[in-house]
Amino acid sequence: MRPKGFQGGLPFPYHVGGTNDVRVHLKTDIEFVTKTIWDVIATIDGSAEKDRWVVLGNHRDAWVFGAVDPNSGTTALIELGRAMGQLRKSGWKPRRSIVLCSWDAEEQGLIGSTEWVEEKASELKEKAVAYLNVDAAVSGSNFSASSVPSMWKLIRSAAQDVRDPKTGKSVYEVWRDRVHESVPESELYDANGNEKPPPAPRIDALGSGSDYTPFLQHLGVPSLDMNFGGDYGVYHSAYDSFYWMSHFGDPTFQYHVAAAQIWGTIALRLANAGGLPLDYTDYATQLREFVNETKRLANRKKLGDSFDSKSLLRAIDDFGEEATKIEKRRHADILDAEKASMEGTMAARLGRINEALMQAERALVDERGLRGRIWFKHQIYAPGVYTGYAALPLPDLRQAIEDGRTADASEAAARITDAIERAAEIVKKGRE
Ligand SMILES: [Zn+2]
Repeated sequence: MRPKGFQGGLPFPYHVGGTNDVRVHLKTDIEFVTKTIWDVIATIDGSAEKDRWVVLGNHRDAWVFGAVDPNSGTTALIELGRAMGQLRKSGWKPRRSIVLCSWDAEEQGLIGSTEWVEEKASELKEKAVAYLNVDAAVSGSNFSASSVPSMWKLIRSAAQDVRDPKTGKSVYEVWRDRVHESVPESELYDANGNEKPPPAPRIDALGSGSDYTPFLQHLGVPSLDMNFGGDYGVYHSAYDSFYWMSHFGDPTFQYHVAAAQIWGTIALRLANAGGLPLDYTDYATQLREFVNETKRLANRKKLGDSFDSKSLLRAIDDFGEEATKIEKRRHADILDAEKASMEGTMAARLGRINEALMQAERALVDERGLRGRIWFKHQIYAPGVYTGYAALPLPDLRQAIEDGRTADASEAAARITDAIERAAEIVKKGRE
């Protein structure tokens, strides 16, 4: 039996598995050798908070030439390194440390980044403010991003401040209008027949397939991934080359510039802000959606009673309230601290808020790990067991419901509830 939708473009029905009529003899020729890999790490020490790290990363190995994947991202990383080096020479220092990482062996299973993250795990848990991943930065002109919800506003605001090379509008406007174009006609107008303002463009959930995985899913470091996409038909092939890029992908290379600008803007905002721009109100909204979606799925499968959604939603409401409160306090304290030029008690209070905003994401990690794959510890985000790179939010709960395992669903929901309660507690303590 082939899974539903398992049909490619060739003119015959696709098969899965073998029968006596259909047999495939596959001979593979793979070289098994040990090779040395190199991660290249550059750090600019922060002036005031050396032990708070804003980490930027991109891989350097490619299947073949890799003009898009990963070299468009590497171009942006090197350009950021050059620009920050120039700033450094003029006497500038970021408030927090900025760490630039060029990973090796990403294509073999995220080896370079995973080794580094595992080696530095305890330090990263304490010090990492965020991880900003860029992989295949440019294969066209369509901006898109995936991240934890606490970074949605930060990504959108950076996109507002960078110019889209083709149109001269902001990257944000072009992004929002493109997404708006795909809204069905029936949803364009409100009840009075007036055209609705275009909604903020969606930022997706992080699954896997690039180096943010160990940061987010193993340690709980707030993470993002972003790119300018297009008709990229040459992925992982020998045609992902300079010729393709200079003829089709980005002939003027201006989107490479825009990618570096957005990446750098987000990095500098995280590194320099008095109060960290991580907003958990969006996180609570997203969690509520995930739970409601899961509840609908469970109801369809007549498993609606298999988990305690009331406690889960209550935990999310508490988390949302705490998020709103700390967000207000952060804004007030930033203003006060600016007046006092970050001195004394104001700065100390802001420091506690920042610590809470960093650690709230960490609290969503459960050291016991996900069922059957304990290396993945984040309770909200993971790639699905059967979805390839794609994310399956609330992974253990969703999978248990998909499989009809009611006892596991109940246990998964309890673990998620605990994680959200831990995060709410941290946010609450941060403003005391
Ligand atoms: Zn890649």
